[in-house]
Amino acid sequence: MAKYVYLFGKTKTDGKGSMKPLLGGKGAGLAEMCRIGLPVPPGFTITTEVCTYYYDHKRTYPSSLKAQMQAGLASIEKQTGKKFGDSKNPLLVSVRSGARDSMPGMMDTILNLGLNDQTVEALAKKTGNPRFAWDCYRRFVQMYGDVVLGVQKRAGEDHEPFEVVIEKLKHDRYHRDIEDTKLTPEDLKELVVRFKALVKERAGKDFRASPWDQLMGAVGAVFGSWMNDRAIVYRRKYNIPSEWGTAVNVQAMVYGNTGDKSGSGVAFTRNPANGVKEFYGEFLINAQGEDVVAGVRTPEPVAQLKKHLPKAFAELDRIRQTLEKHFKDVQDFEFTIEEGTVYMLQTRNGKRTAMAALKFSMDMFKEKLIDWKTAVMRNPADQLDQLLAPVFDIAEAAKAATIATGLPAGPGAASGQIYLNADRAVQAADRKEAVLLVRVETSPEDLRGMIAAEGILTARGGVSSHAALVARQMGKVCVCGAAALDVDYQARTVKVDGKTFKEGDWLSIDGTAGKVFAGRVPTAPSEIVAGLIEGDESARKTEKFKSFQQLMKWCSQATRMSVRTNADTPEQTRNAIAFGAVGIGLCRTEHMFFEGDRIDAMREMILADTLDARKAALAKLLPYQRDDFAGIFRALNGFPATIRFLDPPLHEFLPNTPEQQRELAKKLGISSERIRTRVEQLHEINPMLGLRGCRLGIDFPEISEMQARAVFEAAALVQKDGVKVRPEIMIPLVGFKKELDLQLEIVHRVAGDVQHEQKVKFNYMVGTMIEVPRGALTADEIAQSAEFFSFGTNDLTQTGLGMSRDDSGSFLPHYAELEIVKNNPFATIDTTGVGQLVQIAVTKGRATRKNLKLGICGEHGGDPDSIRFFEKVGLDYVSASPFRVPVARLAAAQAAIAGKK
Ligand code: PEP
Ligand code: MG
Repeated sequence: MAKYVYLFGKTKTDGKGSMKPLLGGKGAGLAEMCRIGLPVPPGFTITTEVCTYYYDHKRTYPSSLKAQMQAGLASIEKQTGKKFGDSKNPLLVSVRSGARDSMPGMMDTILNLGLNDQTVEALAKKTGNPRFAWDCYRRFVQMYGDVVLGVQKRAGEDHEPFEVVIEKLKHDRYHRDIEDTKLTPEDLKELVVRFKALVKERAGKDFRASPWDQLMGAVGAVFGSWMNDRAIVYRRKYNIPSEWGTAVNVQAMVYGNTGDKSGSGVAFTRNPANGVKEFYGEFLINAQGEDVVAGVRTPEPVAQLKKHLPKAFAELDRIRQTLEKHFKDVQDFEFTIEEGTVYMLQTRNGKRTAMAALKFSMDMFKEKLIDWKTAVMRNPADQLDQLLAPVFDIAEAAKAATIATGLPAGPGAASGQIYLNADRAVQAADRKEAVLLVRVETSPEDLRGMIAAEGILTARGGVSSHAALVARQMGKVCVCGAAALDVDYQARTVKVDGKTFKEGDWLSIDGTAGKVFAGRVPTAPSEIVAGLIEGDESARKTEKFKSFQQLMKWCSQATRMSVRTNADTPEQTRNAIAFGAVGIGLCRTEHMFFEGDRIDAMREMILADTLDARKAALAKLLPYQRDDFAGIFRALNGFPATIRFLDPPLHEFLPNTPEQQRELAKKLGISSERIRTRVEQLHEINPMLGLRGCRLGIDFPEISEMQARAVFEAAALVQKDGVKVRPEIMIPLVGFKKELDLQLEIVHRVAGDVQHEQKVKFNYMVGTMIEVPRGALTADEIAQSAEFFSFGTNDLTQTGLGMSRDDSGSFLPHYAELEIVKNNPFATIDTTGVGQLVQIAVTKGRATRKNLKLGICGEHGGDPDSIRFFEKVGLDYVSASPFRVPVARLAAAQAAIAGKK
């Protein structure tokens, strides 16, 4: 019989930490904590396979599940001495989701399950604490009503319906807002009555009394929540496949809400925002776990627990160290203290900002907890650009008025126009506004707005509130719990410091310092950029800079592939080299034709009717190109430069509007009629598949001739100055060997001429891009002539998928929603389809020419997932835009380390 239920507890634990795919992150973490002897209330995990079964079988369960769950409950009963549904000593359980990767707040949780009108009385009697019993009951009705029966905020409502009922009761009975902990047992009894009435009114159903029915309802709701809107949005953002499913954890309740010796909290073994090694987190006395993350009450920092409950604090600090020693990574854990006794409810690797990840990895290496390769792996490549993001200009921030302070929950600097609701934030971002989402607190429904925003600001909630958690993971700038803000959803205003800000007004937030500024504060480059690119000496002395450099050094040690850059100017080249690039992988020469007056010469060349006229125009372009290449060779100082010949369709260079055409006609002294006719002649129905790439050089060999001459004359010039040059000429869009051969003939002839004229010798290579399927499929033939291949994965994706790289935006998002594509194939390489073309070209190319050099210069060269694939197929280098070079270096190093394991 298949095993669907895994027990955990003191007496028997079936699972372990490595079983995340089956037990989910939470289930695996609980099992592992039991194995190392930490205090965990007993329970069981229903596996993710049941979730898969549930969706494959019209939302039904495997037949043996019920018996396995009953056995699980019996085991909990035995360990706790309580009985589920008992009228004397009732067992209450929590029911929680737990996916393989944590999805904070995205799915559902139910606490205190097992309560009804009878068992609540038993709990009151047994504990001698009716207030506690009724508090549990009202929480249960609230959560069950929300999660299982769907009593939730409706469109246009800004408050949870149950919270509205609580507010009303407080005002009916006390005529003011009081803390939840001040409500009496009688108040809570009345709340239960009102909650049940709300459930009946909104859900049209009575609240369920049978504990077993409650349990099955809750399990169904948790599995159901795997497909709720916010979980789907979250999975899409983080590329979590829907077939993974979630597990469900059923666990004996422990109570943080029995009084002042109890409490609940969440903590990190180190600070996940800035990486500092300190016990970090927060708790609430006399509260259940949900209160801490919900942001309804602002919790206290965990250090304060020492004052309230010193023994429990000492125990937690000990557990904190045990966790790090065992897991060898920073843990994020949930705990409950019941009458002074500590219980662990969850542990997982803590989500962290890029800055914290960097510091954790450096510190843990120094502490000998991890080796240097693990330290490299601990820095998420797709987050690395957070470290390069701008910070507020110190001088400007000092001048700006600080209107509020809050908790620094997501580091960095963000300025934006404020919006108080997620939908309006999304709309504003669609209008290309920089958006700051401002909320009293955020909840998972705000996810779309949070994704759209530059930064997030909340008035309530601590560092582990939903806003903080999600911001940290997304790398969004976030300040939370800025209590001075008076956020009015109705009026759409934020009042603070005697000022009123309307939606659309500007605010700025510093998520590193936790400050809120009025208006738009200018930003300055991060220390890393300042140190590397601008040579700022004080920036180079910062810990952040030094750690970054250490990480990059390790990357160089670990990597097999090298990282080049896509650059068209000396400045871009210098920046990329400062970031560690070891050459240019793609210099798009056409970009050079747009600067200054050269576009006129270019247009003259295109408009020319005769070969002589064209050659005359090309002669004007030659010195420009030669100077550009010389500048680039100097900036490279001996590193290789792959220079691609002209690629785009010619009409891209011509003026389109009649006005521009008239202006050009005047400049060139020809009729605008002639320009119009030429533009019409050049018009193509499908220019991306038209006269472009090597086809241009074949139709107009004089263009290739000029470009070859410019490259080689520049090479001669720079080499004479004592600087080593390594030009690599690259022919685009080759699908036939003959295409390449025709261009090669020109390149070699001109190279010979220039060496003869200049009386120098230089080394150069000639190769091709592989960017159409025929090129990949006939790579064995092409490699007879090409000394290197560079995969143009932008075009290879376009032509391989038959999907326009310019027009796919109109349907790709829908494709992603339907999971036809898992990722945008123009951002992350489609390994199964386009990847095969790459693999074929690699195999066939190397079969012909053993030492064929292989690289990639499409946008995928800066994408960590794609880089992993390029490592696997054995490319020699990837090429990325200058500011993506560090990401590519990290991803390449990680791919190499992972490949060796
Ligand atoms: C490519 O097609 O991947 C490429 C690098 O060339 P371009 O983007 O210039 O077409
Ligand atoms: Mg291309």
